[in-house]
Amino acid sequence: MVTVETERKETRALRRLGVLPATALFRRREHSAPEAPQASGIACTMRGCANHTAQLCAYRDRRERSCSATICPAHGISLGGHTYCRRHAGTVQAIGELARDQSGHPDIDDRAPSLVDWIARDIDKDIRTLLARAARPGESVIVDDAARLKHDFRRNARWERSWRLVEHTGPILNVTLHVAEDDDSLIHVRVGTETVADGVPPWIARRRDGQDVEAAIDISQRRLFYRYLEETIAEAVLRFRDRSDRIDQ
Ligand SMILES: [Zn+2]
Ligand SMILES: [Zn+2]
Repeated sequence: MVTVETERKETRALRRLGVLPATALFRRREHSAPEAPQASGIACTMRGCANHTAQLCAYRDRRERSCSATICPAHGISLGGHTYCRRHAGTVQAIGELARDQSGHPDIDDRAPSLVDWIARDIDKDIRTLLARAARPGESVIVDDAARLKHDFRRNARWERSWRLVEHTGPILNVTLHVAEDDDSLIHVRVGTETVADGVPPWIARRRDGQDVEAAIDISQRRLFYRYLEETIAEAVLRFRDRSDRIDQ
């Protein structure tokens, strides 16, 4: 039987050996109590939340600016040991590996990476299927797993996600979504060298105009928007294949 006294002796012995830091003694007690979020006394900025257990969002951008949102454990999103507000959790997820390096973090108010990543995830399956069907023997499809920062010929920054049809000699066709940093609500779609569509997604347009609609209308507007994107991309891929067929002959 392990008594309290022998436990104490063992603990003292372990501390002498340097195995247990002094603070380890306090851990047991915390462990036996149910874990409650620490009351920070800071209100959560989520609408309708009454929790006073909020912490600052952990996001820091490349210019060392931090997010001022305070968010409780129930409404924050934990990624890689840090808790972010929803918006910056979206940014961190969107940039993938780049998130490891703060000098690569988008500006605090830049919505471009998360928007492009969000839309890319939603159409990803369809675009992969479309390109796989368009592929000829020896060609394969390569897909970005995160938004990448690119610059156009005027050095304007933009965030993109792309799907590439390639063969061993090099690229055949790229389908690319991009959002420019200087207009982070406008999404551009390119197939090869052709810009096939650009537009503001309906939910972003509504937020900009301060409009609120019923959930059913929101769902049907989103569905139309995605169908439009997918059909436009599918037509452009077919056109590209038609043209290359004619050149091949
Ligand atoms: Zn909250
Ligand atoms: Zn934040």
